[in-house]
Amino acid sequence: MSTSFNKNKMNKETQEPLRLSPGVVFSACTNKENRSREQNTLDNVEKRDGMPNFKYMQNIYEMLHEHPEVSLREFKTADFVTGELEKLGFAVRTRVGGTGVVGVLEFGRPGEILALRCDMDALPLQENTDVPYASKNAGVMHACGHDSHMATILGTCAFAAQNKERLSGTLMAIFQPAEEIVVGAQAMLDQGIFAEKKPGRLVGIHNWPSLPAGAIGLQNGPLTAFADGFKVTFLGEGGHGALPYKTKDPIAMATAAVQNALTLAHRRMNSNHPQTLSFGMIQGGTSFNIIPSKVVVEGTVRTTRLEDQETMIALLHQAFAAGANLHSGEYVLEYRKGVPAVINNEIVVKELEHVFQTKIPEIPVVTQGLASLIGEDLAYFLEKVPGVLLLIGSGQENGISELHHPSFLVPTQTLEIGYKALTSIVEEYLR
Ligand SMILES: [Zn+2]
Ligand SMILES: [Zn+2]
Repeated sequence: MSTSFNKNKMNKETQEPLRLSPGVVFSACTNKENRSREQNTLDNVEKRDGMPNFKYMQNIYEMLHEHPEVSLREFKTADFVTGELEKLGFAVRTRVGGTGVVGVLEFGRPGEILALRCDMDALPLQENTDVPYASKNAGVMHACGHDSHMATILGTCAFAAQNKERLSGTLMAIFQPAEEIVVGAQAMLDQGIFAEKKPGRLVGIHNWPSLPAGAIGLQNGPLTAFADGFKVTFLGEGGHGALPYKTKDPIAMATAAVQNALTLAHRRMNSNHPQTLSFGMIQGGTSFNIIPSKVVVEGTVRTTRLEDQETMIALLHQAFAAGANLHSGEYVLEYRKGVPAVINNEIVVKELEHVFQTKIPEIPVVTQGLASLIGEDLAYFLEKVPGVLLLIGSGQENGISELHHPSFLVPTQTLEIGYKALTSIVEEYLR
């Protein structure tokens, strides 16, 4: 996957002047009416409801929201994050797996290595909001809330820098590119993100609109799906539509095979574990009266357990073979295993439950019903390091509560709750 990075293009783009440095952007903002922002520094940290770093996070969130960049092109975002981490005293590695950034802060005393991970990319989507910090990049929008993830983790990094004297061990802040196309995490691993320092625990965050803002989601076990794709080709012999008995009809094979597969998935998969099979494309033929010689069908399989993935692959073979055999043809199945499931580590889940109960008992923690069949490449990190994907509620009663929607905005409360959760985790593991 790392081979998909176009190095020439990257170098060319990064040579352009950076417009996402805080000073430039903030001074540009002062030209607008009713808007004033301060430069982000540790010196002007403000408190809201007794919470430090809120203004810092809010400024970063709005600025990143205003300047979204799509997957693999997070150049200015990465430069901005690098600048902030350096200001906070982190040692920073850049260009890890494309545009990825890793900040490391060592505390005075030996201890655990804790990694926090967020994602940096936005989506190719035209924003439809009227907030003053709406996207300035036409056709690009932070509609998945990755801007809020970066702001929350930078806020937590500021907290760690401010409390350096009383913490121990090491904090590693991972800013991952290309989550939306699920290649960034593996690219960072391929470039040795953990070669020198391997964390003992890793916590990734994602805002979660199906949870109300103010709540946290922490569920043991599978949280997202093994997200695979497949392409099956049915091979027969074409001919005249009026003389089907002289052909081996691949359209008949494909329709029988699709029905077989859907029926088998429905009847033979264990319904106690979430999984699904969907067909998304069927192609074949050139005219109403010509039976073609081949038909291509594509689809996706989502499962939450390795054994279900294996069973589904076996069922597809059985269904497609039956469809092809029925009409004396053949089939070729190309199955592409995609991103694996995010499986939250049981021990880390228990540790974090204890942290939340003791340090932030006022915040409700939802522990059930959070699994979905989307793909999320944090899974690759969690295959290397015990950890979790922590969900931060971002649902609002009077707002759009749907990721990837052109009107979706992360409420400010999500930054506060995410900050409280992550700083309490830092305090526990790095005390
Ligand atoms: Zn997304
Ligand atoms: Zn996302």
